[in-house]
Amino acid sequence: MSRRIVHIALLILCLVIAVLLTVPRLVDEDQNKVLKKPPYTASERAVRLHRDLTIADLHADSLLWGRDLLQRSGYGHVDIPRLAEGNVTLQVFSLPTKSPHGLNIESNEDKNDDIYLLAIVGRWPLRTWNSLTERALYQAWRLHAMASGSRGGFVVIENSTDLTSYLERRRSNHNLTAGLLSIEGAHALDGKLENLDVLYRAGYRMISPSHFFDNDIGGSAAGVHKTGLTEKGREWVRQMEARHMIVDLAHASAKTIDDVLAMATRPLVVSHTGAKGTCANNRNLSDDQIRAIAAKGGLIGIGYWDTANCGTDARAIVKAMRYVSQMVGAEHVALGSDFDGAVTTPFDTTGLVQITDAMLAAGYSEEEIRMIMGENVVRFLTANLPEK
Ligand SMILES: [Zn+2]
Repeated sequence: MSRRIVHIALLILCLVIAVLLTVPRLVDEDQNKVLKKPPYTASERAVRLHRDLTIADLHADSLLWGRDLLQRSGYGHVDIPRLAEGNVTLQVFSLPTKSPHGLNIESNEDKNDDIYLLAIVGRWPLRTWNSLTERALYQAWRLHAMASGSRGGFVVIENSTDLTSYLERRRSNHNLTAGLLSIEGAHALDGKLENLDVLYRAGYRMISPSHFFDNDIGGSAAGVHKTGLTEKGREWVRQMEARHMIVDLAHASAKTIDDVLAMATRPLVVSHTGAKGTCANNRNLSDDQIRAIAAKGGLIGIGYWDTANCGTDARAIVKAMRYVSQMVGAEHVALGSDFDGAVTTPFDTTGLVQITDAMLAAGYSEEEIRMIMGENVVRFLTANLPEK
């Protein structure tokens, strides 16, 4: 009898191990699809120009899924080898720390949390299960560990001095790539503004007030009440600015965007979004918002997925870019892929040459392409990150 119990216990253990080893990968593959697998083709002119670009993307959620980003994967959108192959100079790695089940762009309550389940099956440390700040700290630690393991091939940028010296090194070695840490939703502070220093010390330099639900900082475009910035949220903006941390208005409610713009003394980004002018929905920016963000010296990162631009190819992405750049100038437009953000994209990060190609076809000048593909982000970060 006792032997039978041992057998059953062993069987259960094997099953648990099998689930822990396979589920994160299955979820990752299922959530982060591409419409076409690499390799990607483009015109000769685009390939030549693309090789010579400085490319920077304001938003990818690749840390969330537990993939070793030092290894090239055959699924998902971003890892360090694929960034190097795509000639990407800088990738912002953003972390959602809490995500209600059944995400939608209309209305989400702060009731349950899929990232809790991901933390368990992904074998994140126990301390991350019930603390959003700990989740952010753990993922920052992982990105830094990957940088250490890359033997200089990948660096984490924390200030403008880092960025300048990295760009200098990259001039003679285009295989180098870099990341910057960001968070989706200031609920990652676990309700305590003091935790901003904790996140800063871990390397985070960009945070959005909210993500898919309204929180104690501000409302979300996908929240139930879509409230504005709270009193605590105003103090959060002041403290972000004092540390030269960048406020990201992606996912914020219209009211929160207005409230932040009314008080911000530093430029802002909207890391991954679309324009209502080419794709009208709750998630995307109105013309007034685009103008107001540009007037503050901000950047608008155009996303690659269908809710951002109502299309499924590079042409749709470029159409949204064109809409924004014709309104406020190419200097305010950037890449904001949302790679690995539980979205389907036309290509992975090795396929960015298709955007370059579509920009040429849309009549963008080489100078404008250089700006939008990355020079705007580099200029913005050089001017707005802490100096040291
Ligand atoms: Zn997002």
